[in-house]
Amino acid sequence: MLYGAPDGDGVYSKIINVYIIVNKRPDVLIVGGGVSGLAAAVSAAGIGCQVLLIEKELQLGGMFCKGLGFPICGLFGMEDGPPKNTLNSGLAAEFYHHICEKQNNPLMRLGRVWICKYSPNEAVQFFESKIDKAGHIYSLKNSVLHSIEIENERIKVVQLLLRGALVSIRPKVVIECSGNGALLACCPDFSLLPDNKAKSLACVLIKLDQIETDDTMLPVRVPYILRKASQEGIVPLSLGFTTYMPLEKPGQGVLKLSVLPDISLAEQNAFFEKIVNTVLDLLQQEIPSLARARIIEKSSGLLQRVGLRGHGQYILNKDDVLNARKFDGNGIKCAWPIEYWDPEKGPQYHYLDKGEFFEIPLTCLMSKSIKNLFFSGRCISATEQAISAARVMGTCISLGEAAGILAANKDYE
Ligand SMILES: Cc1cc2nc3c(=O)[nH]c(=O)nc-3n(C[C@H](O)[C@H](O)[C@H](O)COP(=O)(O)OP(=O)(O)OC[C@H]3O[C@@H](n4cnc5c(N)ncnc54)[C@H](O)[C@@H]3O)c2cc1C
Repeated sequence: MLYGAPDGDGVYSKIINVYIIVNKRPDVLIVGGGVSGLAAAVSAAGIGCQVLLIEKELQLGGMFCKGLGFPICGLFGMEDGPPKNTLNSGLAAEFYHHICEKQNNPLMRLGRVWICKYSPNEAVQFFESKIDKAGHIYSLKNSVLHSIEIENERIKVVQLLLRGALVSIRPKVVIECSGNGALLACCPDFSLLPDNKAKSLACVLIKLDQIETDDTMLPVRVPYILRKASQEGIVPLSLGFTTYMPLEKPGQGVLKLSVLPDISLAEQNAFFEKIVNTVLDLLQQEIPSLARARIIEKSSGLLQRVGLRGHGQYILNKDDVLNARKFDGNGIKCAWPIEYWDPEKGPQYHYLDKGEFFEIPLTCLMSKSIKNLFFSGRCISATEQAISAARVMGTCISLGEAAGILAANKDYE
């Protein structure tokens, strides 16, 4: 257990019959248990820090578990033949050997890049077993960041909503790994990147069953039909950028419906119901192999590709990515192309040259204005174009690992 016996002024919170003393200061508080938060927790604890990881859902993993069969991208460089090693060493390499290689998930080529399938459950177990081994990590699921207090350019107090109760934590260092920028949203405006309003298309995922298995042209037919319907004004323009991916299980596939990113939470349910039904009706009328298809799973809510990002000591930009810029050699390597989902033109890919990679300097993980704040995963200091390359899961593992090391080595006072 992370915390010791209660002090005189201890604050208690009852969670599943366990009293956690929260007024003792965790060395590192991690907001968000997605892939970057998990990696950050493992690396910070590995250096001996006491880590508190908070996750608003009942399950750890974030987008890692919500992709309904998407592969992990960003682990490898742009090579002609199957790469032998991952681009970054450390946790990313371990992850590849334990989850992809040992589980017989072969590398696959997607255009000019290499990707790998993985099982979300095994992937989360990989991190959970490391968390168990590290021994200094306390993870709180179903706990939502509520607010923060900043004093003398430091985050002094973080308040959490823990099963309806408000609890105050006084962490020494905080890592923002919420993907959407939940912690940054509580910070003063100057802590955020100036151009923070994401334009990238968001999406809704729908898993289908009972598809006729001999139709190998579905990845072409689905976008064609929806593109035509959007040009004729039958469905919104963004739905014309919908894609389809067959799954390994015969008769199953995933529709990735593209939607504008700014639908309010209040509107989302009605909106989903409407577009999902419209799209499925239309596809079933036009494509015989989908006539009997039925929905077996949907993503919960709108999946945003880009969220709020922090204003770091450096802001990674499009030129850095496309010119394969290297900084001091201590950063995180990435060779994934800029994959920008333009609301009017659809996905726009900008590749690096063969064999090249760019570096994400550690200064993109360090807040410019708040001394004890680091960013990781989708929240790093990068323009929308640059984050459209750096946000892939393979890179997020290494970003998280690096943020954990930075936080663990931070001189606290
Ligand atoms: C539609 C879509 C398709 C994608 N496809 C691929 C793909 O095929 N391959 C690939 O490699 N990458 C893909 N990505 C990118 C990748 O999945 C994400 O960028 C990456 O997983 C981000 O990891 P993260 O840890 O930064 O954030 P997330 O995975 O978003 O994790 C953040 C965590 O923080 C939690 N959280 C949020 N707010 C709070 C709060 N207030 N309090 C407490 N916890 C909170 C969330 O519940 C979540 O668990 C895709 C992304 C999208 C949106």
